[in-house]
Amino acid sequence: MSSTPHDLAAAFADRFGTEPDGLWSAPGRVNVIGEHTDYNEGFVLPFAIQHSTTVAAAVRGDRWVRVASTFAPDDDPVTADLDDLAEGGVEGWAAYPLGVLWAFEQSGYRCPGMDLLVDSSVPVGAGLSSSAALECSVAVAANELAQAGASHEELAAIGQLAENRMVGAPTGIMDQSASLLGEAGYAVFLDCRSGESQLVPLDLEAAGLELLVIDTRVSHSHSTGGYAARRRSCELGAKLMGVPALRDVSVQDLAEAAGVLDEETFRRVRHVVTENARVQDAVRLLTREGPAALGPLLVASHASMRDDFEISCAELDTAVDAALDAGALGARMTGGGFGGAAIALVAVDDVPAVRAAVEDAFSAARFRAPVIFSVLPGAGAARIA
Ligand code: ADP
Ligand code: MG
Repeated sequence: MSSTPHDLAAAFADRFGTEPDGLWSAPGRVNVIGEHTDYNEGFVLPFAIQHSTTVAAAVRGDRWVRVASTFAPDDDPVTADLDDLAEGGVEGWAAYPLGVLWAFEQSGYRCPGMDLLVDSSVPVGAGLSSSAALECSVAVAANELAQAGASHEELAAIGQLAENRMVGAPTGIMDQSASLLGEAGYAVFLDCRSGESQLVPLDLEAAGLELLVIDTRVSHSHSTGGYAARRRSCELGAKLMGVPALRDVSVQDLAEAAGVLDEETFRRVRHVVTENARVQDAVRLLTREGPAALGPLLVASHASMRDDFEISCAELDTAVDAALDAGALGARMTGGGFGGAAIALVAVDDVPAVRAAVEDAFSAARFRAPVIFSVLPGAGAARIA
């Protein structure tokens, strides 16, 4: 659901009997390129999208928090005492917002009790990070209501801490960084080792392009085990190569790696090493030539994930191949793999043909119909009312 600010403020008053002090919004994100590079201390290039999560919030005079979501309009708010919050101590969706308030205090800030009502237009589980959108909307609200003055980089770390330690998901800092640091018309080039980021121009509209998200709506059962196995392969590769992380292996070093690693570990390493190089190439191309130049890098990224990292699946390959056959400039799977979404970079005039080709290919293969929509680089987290 996605209400207007006025509707959300009215819903808040209905729920909690007071007006909210303000509304804060944070976007989901899509990753243009740089997959499975984050935990190898490498590079990623996400952007904040126009779909966002908004939280209406009001400070209370005590240490209690009440949190509700328009996703569960009939449920009573989840309540918690800030002094009783402990790592892993919250079940269900409320672990995200309460985890942020817990992480905020863990990071040395004092948080007042507050009432929160959350509303979102970010599709859940489609690889657009509705979780980071939720965390970051609460983080910017808490930052202002507590008059803490934390930087957006600090808030990204707070969101990650909440997700890692309260929700229990071992994710990196990409999603929160994109949500907090993104700007309309720009992608966020993030160095996952140093935490440094840089805005890179990505004006799709001016270039006459759309970035389509093709949500396959499948999640294959081996996704969790597959992710952990890939991380282990990367750690093994780095150890055998004698480096702290695969970030430290260059494309030139791969010739040497072939002699040191078993065949499968070598292919896992080659994906990460070439993907890091592709992210850096993408940044150079965006700066010098513009978004249309990205096509071949997206295609190469997909081939690397399909053949070397082996995290694609029939639905993702079908989406990518059908989009390319119908004239997309580039396409690749995005996210952890084994399902989820693909992205396709398409000239505006070709969008109907690409959509139709992907839908037809899914139907011919007897796959569940995909959900296809376009995303644009939008604003990062901020107060909206
Ligand atoms: P995603 O790829 O969308 O981030 P995750 O599994 O990481 O998928 O996060 C989705 C979870 O975040 C949901 O299952 C829910 O617990 C929580 N969530 C996201 N948005 C909302 C919302 N607006 N209201 C309540 N919970 C939400
Ligand atoms: Mg998530």
